[in-house]
Amino acid sequence: MAVKDRIYIKDLEIIAYHGVLKAEKELGQRFFISLEIQTDFREAGKNDDLTKTISYAEVCDDIEKIFLTAKYNLIEKCAEEIAEFLLEKYSRISELKVKIKKPWAPIRKAIDHVAVEIVRKRHKAYISLGSNIGDKEKNLNMVLEEIKKISGTQIKKVSGFLITKPFGYTEQDDFLNAAAELETLLMPEELLKELLAVEQKLGRVREIKWGPRLIDLDILIFDDEVIDEENLTIPHPWMSERMFVLEPFAEIAPNVVHPLSRKRIRELKNELEKNI
Ligand code: ADP
Ligand code: MG
Repeated sequence: MAVKDRIYIKDLEIIAYHGVLKAEKELGQRFFISLEIQTDFREAGKNDDLTKTISYAEVCDDIEKIFLTAKYNLIEKCAEEIAEFLLEKYSRISELKVKIKKPWAPIRKAIDHVAVEIVRKRHKAYISLGSNIGDKEKNLNMVLEEIKKISGTQIKKVSGFLITKPFGYTEQDDFLNAAAELETLLMPEELLKELLAVEQKLGRVREIKWGPRLIDLDILIFDDEVIDEENLTIPHPWMSERMFVLEPFAEIAPNVVHPLSRKRIRELKNELEKNI
């Protein structure tokens, strides 16, 4: 079980050059940065071991570097940069709150300060991969290479490649299917956009619905999210009816729970097997 321990850094003061106005970029002003780091330092606490927690000294150095190497217009941008950098660098951080205060914002009003606050975390997503044109194994491997390049995204697990019969439009070549577990800092819509760009890059042509495709990438599950938007439905609406999805998915994540049916992937697969 993951505990939710927290480390707080409050009001680290840095004189820096962020702001929309030219004067702000030239003269600089005071910023105060606060963090709430969610992690698990139980082992560090039990053994008095610095290597099992996050060094706030090091984090403060990181923030200072990020804050001083660029001049951004917005403190929103500063907050995103800090969150992204720290989540990528420290795998122990599960969630992060970043608050940036700007007490001298030159807006000719008497205010104590303005501030922005964001919460960012790493997400777990499961995707399915399919190909039925050309050298399918090569296509899937190329897709995996492209996914590795997506910013803030890592591949954690990949299933074996499974040869399956086409679904829907059956007058076409067999498919090669797989599933993968991703860890990502992206939001679901952003991940979809990146995956569609990978499909495009590898030359997918959309012609017949459910017809031949060089590559098909679908998001199956994204954390525990339920999303119903015009371009994105999560969990994937047909995943529970498709053996070519459930079989590789169950291979890498049999105990993951479907957010709507509350059934485990292994259970969904066993039920579908009985119904075929
Ligand atoms: P399918 O994968 O159902 O055979 P397509 O790949 O041709 O069909 O459909 C792609 C479109 O489906 C994308 O443009 C995307 O906007 C939409 N879509 C909706 N939900 C998802 C999802 N969970 N994963 C991937 N694409 C999705
Ligand atoms: Mg698709």
